[in-house]
Amino acid sequence: MKIQRIDDHRWRIERSGQMRVPGIVYATAAMLDQLQQEEALQQVANVATLPGIVEASLAMPDIHWGYGFPIGGVAAFDWQNGVVSPGGVGYDINCGVRLATTGLVYDDIRDRGRELVEALFRHVPSGVGSTGSVKLGPKEEKKVLARGSRWAVQQGFGTDDDLRHTEDGGCLPGADPELISARALERGSRQLGTLGSGNHFLEVGLVEEIYQPAAADAFGLHEGQVTVLLHSGSRGLGYQVCDDFLAVMRKHVQTLGIQLPDRQLACAYIQSEAGQRYLAAMACAANYAYANRQILLHRSREVFEQTLRISPRALDMRLVYDVCHNIAKKEQHLVQGRQQWLCVHRKGATRAFGPGQPAVPEDYREVGQPILIPGDMGTASYVLVGTQRAMEETFGSTCHGAGRVLSRKAALKRAKGRAIHRELEDKGVLVRWTGRGTLAEEMPEAYKDVSMVVEVVHAAGIARKVARLRPLLVVKG
Ligand code: 5GP
Ligand code: MN
Ligand code: MN
Repeated sequence: MKIQRIDDHRWRIERSGQMRVPGIVYATAAMLDQLQQEEALQQVANVATLPGIVEASLAMPDIHWGYGFPIGGVAAFDWQNGVVSPGGVGYDINCGVRLATTGLVYDDIRDRGRELVEALFRHVPSGVGSTGSVKLGPKEEKKVLARGSRWAVQQGFGTDDDLRHTEDGGCLPGADPELISARALERGSRQLGTLGSGNHFLEVGLVEEIYQPAAADAFGLHEGQVTVLLHSGSRGLGYQVCDDFLAVMRKHVQTLGIQLPDRQLACAYIQSEAGQRYLAAMACAANYAYANRQILLHRSREVFEQTLRISPRALDMRLVYDVCHNIAKKEQHLVQGRQQWLCVHRKGATRAFGPGQPAVPEDYREVGQPILIPGDMGTASYVLVGTQRAMEETFGSTCHGAGRVLSRKAALKRAKGRAIHRELEDKGVLVRWTGRGTLAEEMPEAYKDVSMVVEVVHAAGIARKVARLRPLLVVKG
């Protein structure tokens, strides 16, 4: 593989073999060295061979190995002649992050940390097969799939203001619940409003530093403020939709004789029946995830109000934004000087629309969209803002987290004999968790240094730093 340096933060994987476009990697030289020992860069090159891909197969600095497509990858395909691939979206369809601010400061919760984290842990079901927050009959479940967060708000789990501050208004259009298998529906019927396992979390934190006051102001962020950051997706329903459609697409690929460098890249032409059906089913799972995070936010409000015995008004928990980082979307971008309709796959990557974009909520439009970058449970997380440069270079996309450096297995080994929760407590972080191996698999060392990842996208100009958050209380699946 031939890799050319473009500048300090960008590298080009030159076209070779079946690649239709080059690969572009956002990373420092040191990160690239590390990446060259892994499979992820080969995956970037593999994606570049798919029909209809435009400009380049992109990799963000949090890139690591994923199913078929790398996690931290962005790829855009021509809407008329290109493909859509479940592996380019990921198993956890519309996994994403939301951030809320509160009217509280550290002193308001300093002595109540233990109580708060216990209450959140009790009130928000977590763990692999967690259930029990909301139970859905088949008819109601289909409404969730069609309407997303709008359904949740109609049921009393939140406000219209929450919808305005959610990507897509909390509802991806084109969802067709009739395409969802009985198995997927069954898995979804009892998991709405639950966190899920391991990497998913609900975290109470503090705004520690502001980098860009104008954007921070627009987003309602200020130093010392207590925040809630949560990360979850479409649970078993989304996983099942991905699995169901991978089978459909393997057949599609076989029938049409599409040559793939890796079976995991199974895909379908966007304009084919299989492609259209996948997109309509994916939208259902995306809507389930939006509704899920909406209910999780509502549960957080309930816990804060009950535990601290304060009114909704005193709590003043406002949604800053909700972003998806596992999704394929129909978007128009400038490609070689002309507007083109594309299917933009972001897998472990976040939309990063810049100032003036109509898709950005009105109150943020002047500065750009908020981008939420969780780091790890012991270090920090970031709020960034989208840029015009991202619109021009990355189809309006940037990174989604720190990204793993240790496999779950390697992390378990590294944590042997250590009490990770004590180590976190010493750093001022209280944690409650469900899964047996969760704390070891998820310890801060299992992830890259989020500050370095954020520095790369900031320096490259495909997002700008707005604020840094510090974790205080963490609930993990
Ligand atoms: P993914 O969606 O790829 O599983 O995770 C997104 C990112 O969340 C990871 O790359 C990691 O940086 C971050 N992350 C995982 N667990 C935690 C946590 O407990 N707290 C925070 N703040 N970030 C986390
Ligand atoms: Mn997920
Ligand atoms: Mn995720």
